Amino acid sequence: MRPSSALAKSLDAADPLAPFRADFALPEGVVYLNGNSLGPLPAAVPGVMDDVVRRQWGERLIRAWNDEDWWSAPLRVGDRIGRLIGAAAGQTAVGESTSVQIFNTLVAAARLRPGRRVLVTEAGNFPTDRYLAASAARLLGLEVVETTADTLAAALDRHAGEVAVVFYPAVDYCTGALWDVAGITDLAHRAGALAMWDLSHAAGAVPVQVDADGVDLAVGCTYKYLSGGPGSPAYVYAAARHQAALDLPLTGWHGHARPFDMADGFEPAPDIARTRIGTPHVLSLLALEAALEPLERAGVAAVRDKSLKLGEFFLGCADSMLTGLGFEVATPRDPLRRGNHFAVRHPEAHAVMAALKARGVIGDVRSSTVLRLCLNGLYVSYTDVHTAVAAMQEVASTGAHRAPDFQVREVVT
Ligand SMILES: *Cc1c(COP(=O)(O)O)cnc(C)c1O
Repeated sequence: MRPSSALAKSLDAADPLAPFRADFALPEGVVYLNGNSLGPLPAAVPGVMDDVVRRQWGERLIRAWNDEDWWSAPLRVGDRIGRLIGAAAGQTAVGESTSVQIFNTLVAAARLRPGRRVLVTEAGNFPTDRYLAASAARLLGLEVVETTADTLAAALDRHAGEVAVVFYPAVDYCTGALWDVAGITDLAHRAGALAMWDLSHAAGAVPVQVDADGVDLAVGCTYKYLSGGPGSPAYVYAAARHQAALDLPLTGWHGHARPFDMADGFEPAPDIARTRIGTPHVLSLLALEAALEPLERAGVAAVRDKSLKLGEFFLGCADSMLTGLGFEVATPRDPLRRGNHFAVRHPEAHAVMAALKARGVIGDVRSSTVLRLCLNGLYVSYTDVHTAVAAMQEVASTGAHRAPDFQVREVVT
């Protein structure tokens, strides 16, 4: 059937995940397709934050560290995220920014393979990942080799016996391409290297099985598909088999085996707790904990299934409504090779997005010519997708984006 608003309506009526939209406080009149950058506010979070701030902090004061279990929140929330990425309990902890976790974990990963002098990372990886890989390499006297999924095997051959870590993103932040976590992990292992993954655009979006796939280490952000809120803390996964040997460079007191001994020297906790650093961002951590509930209830598999169906619908709409208007879908069309957002090239992407935002359709722009549109099945409807594509058609066919108002290049999105 030709994609239309009527078809969108009937698909919405039959959608088992449709009720989950009410679990998010999305403003009226907004089509929110930027949940891969900042997940929307879960409706339960303001009430939880009110309790955390007024009662837990305000009334319980310092006692809340024990009474309200603030102390164990990094591992408690870590285990809940662990379940979303296929990690058995005791291997995931939350705290610090993604960038800090990347650096801390990557250095520790390289130290697990002493004598190997190469860090491999992905050439299109998110800039902070590449900057931090370069810095970790400089600190450790290693060399960074950047590859693509296509050139990885050849690079591992060329550097046989030298590669300490293969550090890849599971889903490309820009194009939305989905990499083969199991296959690349296996390639890394055959080369004697460890596989470390950045799951920022994968956790909560696509089924990830870190334990089953033999992943060694992983990190990821929580304010995208996990809706933890701006700057919510990132997580680290360390497979149980590596924990006792994990030599992390940031040896803060919360990672000590007995933090309240206030001992002179650092002795790491024997387990995942050694990835803790200092006092965590408790408010953000507890907002994140409350935010996970709708996703857990829906299940990542169901969300992924619907996200793929939204994707098919999007491609159908794009093919029938956007042809000849300067748009080009840059994300693989194969559902097995894409995550949950689409990258659509347009030579005037910034102006087009500004015009779309003026029409209530919110996405963002990367690499100056790529519109990113995130179709998260947890709260995006088929009608949203049709509305967005219709707005793209209207803007590009009328040249509405050429209006002076939309010519400002956005600084922050
Ligand atoms: C979003 C994202 C980050 C963000 O890092 P922050 O320290 O939270 O700013 C890092 N890496 C990847 C791959 C991302 O997608």
